[in-house]
Amino acid sequence: MSKKAPVKKNEYIEEATFEDLTHDGNGVTKVDGYPLFVPNALPGETGKVKVVKASKGYGFGRLAELHEKSPHRQDPPCPIYHECGGCQIQHMSYEGQLEAKAKHVRDVMTRIGKLEDVQVHPTLGMEEPWRYRNKAQVPVGEKEGRFVAGFYQKRSHEIIDMDKCIIQYEKNDEVIQQVKSICQRLGIRPYDEEKHRGTLRHIMTRSAYETGEVMVVLVTRTPDLPHKNKIIEELVQNIDGLKSIIQNVNSKKTNVIMGNQTQVIWGEEVIHDYIGDIKFAISARSFYQVNPEQTRVLYEKALEYADLSGEETVIDAYCGIGTISLFLAQKAKKVYGVEIVPEAIEDAKQNAALNGLDNTEFEAGPAEVVIPNWYDQGIKADVLVVDPPRKGCDEALLNTILAMKPKKVVYVSCNPATLARDLRVLEDGGYVTKEVQPVDMFPQTMHVECVTQLVLKV
Ligand code: SAH
Repeated sequence: MSKKAPVKKNEYIEEATFEDLTHDGNGVTKVDGYPLFVPNALPGETGKVKVVKASKGYGFGRLAELHEKSPHRQDPPCPIYHECGGCQIQHMSYEGQLEAKAKHVRDVMTRIGKLEDVQVHPTLGMEEPWRYRNKAQVPVGEKEGRFVAGFYQKRSHEIIDMDKCIIQYEKNDEVIQQVKSICQRLGIRPYDEEKHRGTLRHIMTRSAYETGEVMVVLVTRTPDLPHKNKIIEELVQNIDGLKSIIQNVNSKKTNVIMGNQTQVIWGEEVIHDYIGDIKFAISARSFYQVNPEQTRVLYEKALEYADLSGEETVIDAYCGIGTISLFLAQKAKKVYGVEIVPEAIEDAKQNAALNGLDNTEFEAGPAEVVIPNWYDQGIKADVLVVDPPRKGCDEALLNTILAMKPKKVVYVSCNPATLARDLRVLEDGGYVTKEVQPVDMFPQTMHVECVTQLVLKV
C-alpha cells in the first residue's frame, strides 16, 4: 500500500538522516516510513531538507543544509557535473561507489529475489575510474552565433558546449575538438533542431583500446556535405590513428541519433579492437561495449563461472556481436549464439571467422523463440549464458531453461532488479544461485553490471 504523504510541499525537515541511494543516485530519507528522494545526499549523512514534491507513496526534496558529512563525500572533479547529468555519483569517493553498488545488489537480492544468503562479492572496480569510455557521441548546434558541441542540459534540449568529458578517452575529446574547429572554420552549418535546418547534427567517435584505431562518424541532415574533401583532408592531417571516416545521413525530425544511410567517405569501414585475445571488427552501427577494460574483467568472470573443460555445448542468449560467445568458444566444444538484431549476428559471424573460431553458430531472432526451437531440434546446452537488456529474460526463455536443464547457468545482467526477479524463477525451478559478482563497467554512474553463477540441483 502506498502511503499518504506525511509532509507537504515547501515544508522543511530540520534533521533528515539519509540511509540509502536510489538506482539513479538520489539520497533516501524516510519520514514515518514515507521515502523522500534527495539529490546530492549520501548514505550516512544528515541535513535539512526542503520538500519540493509530495506524491502518494514518495516525494522529492532538496538538500538545504548538510550537517553530518559522509566520509565518502568528495568534490566532483568535473566542472560541468551538476549541469550534465551523465554521471550521478561523482560527489562520492570511488571506494564509496563500489560499496554502494554491492550493497544495492545485496538489497535487491533479498527484497526482490527473496534470496536471503546468496553470496554477493565486493564490486570489482577499476584502478583508474576516469577516462574509460571508448565512444563519444555529441550533439552539435548553434548558440549566439557560435558553433557548439557537447551535451544536452539536464531535462532540456539546450546544448551546452563542452571541451572535455573526464570519463571519455582523452583521444575522444581531442577528436571532437578537431571536428568542431575544422567544421566551424569551413563554415559547415550546425543543425538547428527547431527549424530542422543546417548540416551537422552529431559527431560520433570511437577509439579502440588495444590498437588505438580511431573512427569518426559525421551525422548530417542532408547527403550533401559541403567541403567534404577539405574536411577529410584536415581530419586525416590532424588525427593520429584515424582509420575510418563515415558519413551517416539522418534527414528525419527525431531524437534518434543515426539515420539509415551510412557511407564510408574515407578509409576503412571498420576499426579493430581486442578483448583479451579475441579480435573484433567494429562498424559505425555495431554495438560494442564502451568500457573494454572492464568488459574483459566481466567476461573472464563469466568464463570462470562457466567452468568449461572443452567438452561442453554452450548457448549464449542475447549475444550481441558475439563477444561472450567467442570468449567461451575458446574453451568449449560448440557455442550457439542468438540475438534479435540481424546486423549484430552478421558481425558475430564475421568476428568468429576473423578469429578462426569455427565451433560457433549464430542465429538472428528472439531468444525466447529460437532457443525453444533449438531444444525441439535436440540441441541441449551443458552451460547456458544469458545477457539480456534491462528488462531481463523473457518468461518463455526461463521456462525453456528449466525444461532443458543445463548444468550451469551464467547470468550476466545490467539490471540487478530484473536479475533478482529471474533468479527467483530459476531457484523455484531447481537451480541454486552460487555467487553474484558485481563488476563496475560505468564508474561515476549508478549503473552496475553483475555476473551470477547458478547450478542445477542434483
Ligand atoms: N552479450 C552481448 C550483448 C548484451 S546487450 C555483449 O556482451 O556485448 C543485450 C542484447 O540483447 C542486445 O544486443 C539486444 O539487441 C539483444 N536483445 C534484446 N531483446 C532480445 C531478445 N528478445 N532476444 C534476443 N536478443 C535480444
